[in-house]
This record gives sequence, C-alpha cells and structure tokens, in this order.
Amino acid sequence: MEVRQLKTELPRIIAVGPNMIEQIVPIIQDLETSVPVTIVHDNITWGIAGKKIHELLEDATFEPHNIEVTGPFLAEAERVAHVAEETGSKFIIGVGGGSVIDTAKYGGIISKIPFISVPTAASHDGIASMRASLIVEGKKKSFEARPPIAVIADLTVISKAPFRFLAAGSGDTIANKTAVLDWELAHRVKGERIGEYPKVLSEMTAEMIIRDANLIARGDIVAAKIVTKALITSSMAMCIAGSSRPASGSEHLFSHALDMILDKPALHGEQCGIGTIIMMYLHGGNWEQIRDTLKTIGAPVTAKEADIPEEAIIEALLMAHTIRPERYTILGSNGLTYSAAVNAAETTGVIS
Ligand SMILES: [Zn+2]
Repeated sequence: MEVRQLKTELPRIIAVGPNMIEQIVPIIQDLETSVPVTIVHDNITWGIAGKKIHELLEDATFEPHNIEVTGPFLAEAERVAHVAEETGSKFIIGVGGGSVIDTAKYGGIISKIPFISVPTAASHDGIASMRASLIVEGKKKSFEARPPIAVIADLTVISKAPFRFLAAGSGDTIANKTAVLDWELAHRVKGERIGEYPKVLSEMTAEMIIRDANLIARGDIVAAKIVTKALITSSMAMCIAGSSRPASGSEHLFSHALDMILDKPALHGEQCGIGTIIMMYLHGGNWEQIRDTLKTIGAPVTAKEADIPEEAIIEALLMAHTIRPERYTILGSNGLTYSAAVNAAETTGVIS
C-alpha cells in the first residue's frame, strides 16, 4: 500500500449551541486577547448578530471595526482585506449567510488574517469549508481558501432564519450522496485518489439528513442543530480530503451551471438538492429516497417549486460537464445527450 503525505488544516475551535454568540468573548480570548478585529456583515446581519458581537467585544476591550458588504464580490473581499490590514486586525469575523461568510473568508486569504465564521443561517457547507464562492465580472467562481480558525454557530440565531435556508442546507448535505458516488467512479475510471475517512464522513452526514428529515421539517432549534452539524461535518470531510471532492460532484456542477444560466438562481443548496435527485437517477441509485427526503423536509424537488424554468434545467444538465472538466463525474467527459437529459429530468419528475 502506498503511503502519501497528508497536510490537513482544520478549524481550531468549533462551538455549536444555543446563544453561542454570548460566548464569543471567551472563545476569541482562547486565541488572542484585546486585539483589533474586523467584523464583516451586511445590512441585515448587523441587526441579527453583528451589533451584539461588536458590543460584546468592545466591552471586553477588543477593538472591533465594522465593514458592511453588499454581496459576494471579489472586489468586496478585497475591501475587507484592506480594512483588516489598515486597522491591524488579528481576526476577520464574518457574520452572516453564505455571501458574507465567503466574502469575509476570502478577505482573510488576501490579507493572510485568520477568519472566524459566525453563520446566521445554515444554508450551505461554506460555513466551515476551505472554499469561497465569489462573483467576478458577473460570474460566480469558486476560489481555494483556508478553513476558518473558529466556527461559532449560534443555534438560537440560526433557527430564527427563514426555514428555506435550513431546507437548502439539507440539500447541500444530501448532495454528498452523489458526490461520493462520483468520487468512487473517478477512482475506478480515472484512478483518482480516494480518501476513506472523508468519504465515510461525507456519506454519514448525508445519511443523518435522510434519517432525521422529519425532525428537520419542524424548523426548530433541534432542526438547526442537525443541519448545522451536518454542514460543519461536510466541511471537515473536505478539509481532510484537501479538496471539495467528498461534498461536490455532478450535482454541484449542475448547480454551478444554473448559476451561470439564470439571472436569479435559486439557493445553492436548493439547486444541489434537485441536482442530487437527477444525478442519483443517472447513477442508477435510489433517487426516490433523495426526492422523498427533500420533500419531507420541505425543500423544492421540481423546477417549478424552485422557480427555475424547465429549459434551464435541461440547459444546465447539458452544460454541467464543461464547468470543471478535471472533476470526473457520472456526466463523463462528453456530457449527456439532449434526449438523455430530458429523460433524466422527466423520469425524476423535476420537469413535467
Ligand atoms: Zn455546496
């Protein structure tokens, strides 16, 4: 058996629980005391948690600086990096959903300042992963980043976010099912290296979503805990693999294609959930189980429910294999034929 070198970077602190924001001072003091920090938020997350964090840190003799960002733009990440450098910040704290987290995370990469993730919603696994998705010249691009040094997930805050986010987070996690099948396929067909630990971890989190679908549907603090932990565990699987492979396969390529096609895409996790149904069908697996789980949770399972035009579903299926050609999946190197794409979308009921 070949033994390879493995360099894995993981968050140093993962704090998940009700009212966890109240604990932000001792958590950050575990890392450093009384230092300047930059708090990144948007106009909504300031009121949800940003202001509170600012006050707590200020009272504890930290020196917080705020920056409000307008969206997940590379230019905004550069602005975050600039502010953090100017103020001599030792940490960049991202307070928000996917957009704020990714902007703050990448600001941390540009400035080489450690990033602390404070998600206000559990909608995708970027909350603890080492990738950031940002818009450059009008198009969403996925960037290599580093995992946060700490993740502080306040379940009280997360459970109060619109339920749609939690349902989307479930979709992003159930995507691990087809991501792992794609990884195994690439291992068999292309000889791609596969990691047993991240593979098992990734599968396990998707299984937990399937098992606990009824609990998640309640949308309460228990639901928030299940989905948040699943997303963080998915992120860990990616950190261990040193790649997004364990949690991102053909279903993610499909979602990225939709992001490029649509002016107003659905949520990342919603698109990935629908993609998982179709890709599981293409794998010859139990796609009905994926659909039924998402249905139980209350996530969209059809183009109509996700407010996506049916033509866009077909277009994305035909385009998906071109997005990241080095990532071999069930879509193969040449992609689907038109009739196969229509058949897969119709058979799974995604289009009528
Ligand atoms: Zn994802």
